[in-house]
Amino acid sequence: MDTSALRKVLALEEKRGFNDTAVFGGLDKFLRNWSVAAAETLPAPRFLKRFHQLFDGGYSSKNPEERRAWSKDALVFLDEIENKKAVAAPKPAPEKKPAPKIKTATAKVKKAVAPAATSALDAPITVVKGISTGLATSFGKMGVKTVRDLLYFFPHRHLDYSQLKYISQLTEGEEQTIVANVWQAQETRPGGRRSTEAIVGDETGNIRVVWFNQPYLAKTLTTNARIMLSGRVTLFKGRHVFLSPEWELIEGQDPVHTARLVPVYPLTHGLRPRQVRRLMKGFIDTWAGQVDDFLPEELRRRLNLLELPAAIAQAHYPDDTAVKDRARVRLAFDELFLLQLGVMSRKREWQEGRPGCPFDVKAPALDKFIKSLPFTLTAAQNKVLKEIMGDLQKPQPMSRLLQGEVGSGKTVVATAALLAAAATGFQSAFMAPTEILAEQHFATISQLLSRLGKEEDEGQLRNYTGILPGALKVALLIGDIKQAGKKQLQKQIKTGEIDIAIGTHALVQKGVEFNKLGLAVVDEQHRFGVEQRSALREKGFSPHMLVMTATPIPRTLALTLYGDLDLSVIDELPPGRQTVKTKWLKPGQRDSAYAFLRKQVKEGRQAFILCPLIEESEAVAAQAAVVEYERLSREVFPDLRLGLLHGRLAGAEKDRVMAEFRAGELDILVSTPVIEVGIDIPNATVMLIESADRFGLSQLHQFRGRVGRGKEQSYCMLLAENPSEVGRERLDIIENTQDGFKLAEADLKMRGPGEFFGTRQSGLPDLRMAKISDVALLELARNEAVKLFKADPHLEKAANQPLTGEMARVWAGAGEWS
Ligand code: ADP
Ligand code: MG
Repeated sequence: MDTSALRKVLALEEKRGFNDTAVFGGLDKFLRNWSVAAAETLPAPRFLKRFHQLFDGGYSSKNPEERRAWSKDALVFLDEIENKKAVAAPKPAPEKKPAPKIKTATAKVKKAVAPAATSALDAPITVVKGISTGLATSFGKMGVKTVRDLLYFFPHRHLDYSQLKYISQLTEGEEQTIVANVWQAQETRPGGRRSTEAIVGDETGNIRVVWFNQPYLAKTLTTNARIMLSGRVTLFKGRHVFLSPEWELIEGQDPVHTARLVPVYPLTHGLRPRQVRRLMKGFIDTWAGQVDDFLPEELRRRLNLLELPAAIAQAHYPDDTAVKDRARVRLAFDELFLLQLGVMSRKREWQEGRPGCPFDVKAPALDKFIKSLPFTLTAAQNKVLKEIMGDLQKPQPMSRLLQGEVGSGKTVVATAALLAAAATGFQSAFMAPTEILAEQHFATISQLLSRLGKEEDEGQLRNYTGILPGALKVALLIGDIKQAGKKQLQKQIKTGEIDIAIGTHALVQKGVEFNKLGLAVVDEQHRFGVEQRSALREKGFSPHMLVMTATPIPRTLALTLYGDLDLSVIDELPPGRQTVKTKWLKPGQRDSAYAFLRKQVKEGRQAFILCPLIEESEAVAAQAAVVEYERLSREVFPDLRLGLLHGRLAGAEKDRVMAEFRAGELDILVSTPVIEVGIDIPNATVMLIESADRFGLSQLHQFRGRVGRGKEQSYCMLLAENPSEVGRERLDIIENTQDGFKLAEADLKMRGPGEFFGTRQSGLPDLRMAKISDVALLELARNEAVKLFKADPHLEKAANQPLTGEMARVWAGAGEWS
């Protein structure tokens, strides 16, 4: 999108003291014209709302100070859309591995995969007519490298220019198309800008057409040329005029820019909308037909899905809205179906073919452990404990997702599993996403175990006697414990001396070898990639795996996206848990928020202040947190004890701050969002979240769960400077809802599964066409996948062979296969 004109105007305005003289006729008029073209080429639809807020006029009625502020906002926005282009566009296809890695595949299947890998569709896009190496580079920036990528390079929306009208029928405001003759076209200079003005006519009348800033059109539009125009008409001095419509000359070809549903493609530097459209039309016409449909014919017919070549063609240049929708359904079905087949293969592979290690779940230590707890387990905890123990005693390795709200008591349940491993003579690994959380788990687990036996505290190593017949050793292994100590611990893990190793994901990295790994517990699934999971599996013969998450995921989705994991849910909080009073404060209420926080501190409580979400990098976020911390310390709470926590602090420093906060030596902990997840401080009763409108609902709910862990009433205060409509909606929901599952569903509706799960990170294939509102489609895909798997578990039937190849291709890009 070209923002240079607007940037120049804004610069000139600034130079002239924002007196609205930079452009003839005023800035509002300029924006009216500029924004029509610009809005269409925005890199992503999510920018639209803000775009309209900024550029829909009102400049003339502002005073110079307001204009200055607006101009600043506008420039920030322009920077944002220009930088974000690459992000908004489809993500770059990951480097394809030379041979798709399917461990399950039999030799026969592998043979079937090979031809797919060398198909004509894998040729670089330079083989496409009209794509030079220069253009290929531009497409490459958006991850489009092969012919297949280009086929799947879908427009992010369509303009409906299909409403063909006579000139006499034109009405204002709607997207309409006319077919007309050019009577005359000439270059004009309205407001000093070289433009083209034309008069065109059909049998019902004539209309004036103006294209701003496109003087060269005057030469193209020769008198008597037949032309199609699509766009909106406006009323000017009582007469209709077409302003900068899309146009094309009629030369017997299919229309590309007008008179149909016209695709709007993601663009990047070096690509212009008309050019890409024309190119894609020719490309789709020649290439879409060469795609083989990988869905079994029987399935496709039964579900009445479009054939793949037609679906691809119609997703680009649909004949009408109905078939466009059918194309989307077909392509979305493919994504969900392949996803489902993939996760099911993973599960099958995981459970077949590997030796397991059945645990002794009747060991006396377990029973003693449950009895030693200072509380009785909730019914939900008992239920999932039974499910887990049921898995652990089997020879097949467990692969289970344990879901439960923050504070629902997952850690206790996990500890029982760790103990079962140790009682059977196996080692276990417990991994958290951050060091702080790893330490916290170490502290929690040590504390639980110390009620059960005699503890010897050797810092990062705890030695318990009286729990098991032999000693029980628990170690904390995190990145920056002193090198010598770490080496020592690693050695003890290797010899099998340490029973339970707690750490971050670094535990699965090189250098840590287990003697007899029987169980891996992973906290916070969505941060733990599939690659790490498989790395871990390779550490032992085939450890049982328990993945814990506090993100409530609606069941259908959980089954679909984590179909390789069995699901256990703790759907009940321990009795007596309070609800956290949540309030969304207006910007003007910031001071009263601080006053309230101060009051709580005076009463002996502690508070969190969460700094705004900053996406660029942890370094920038850390810097922002430092600034906020200094401001708060100096100007707001000079008399209170503040601590600062962010991802850039050295481990020892983080430890120190956390320890101080936990010990009550700090009143307020200022921190970045990254560091915040999962911390358990019962005395903290206030959570103040800055820029709360920028977080997702599930995330806000997680943050809120940091308080309300003790006896005292707790509070969550949400600040938002200038929330968008979606932001406001979210704040409204979080203020009034405590139920994590309801929040998750609302969140999913608002964000879609891709963003919700970060499918890229989670090692799942991208979902481009599938949406969360597709629950029915999702269930359909799942049912069909189950059926197919039942009938042909290794996808060996001839009709299913093409599917195998497609699966391998899709999942090879997504990461590790198992
Ligand atoms: P999670 O890991 O799900 O966030 P934790 O296991 O850390 O939850 O438990 C949160 C707190 O609740 C801990 O202080 C724990 O001791 C306590 N707790 C766990 N289960 C129960 C229970 N059944 N009754 C009372 N308190 C419990
Ligand atoms: Mg927890």
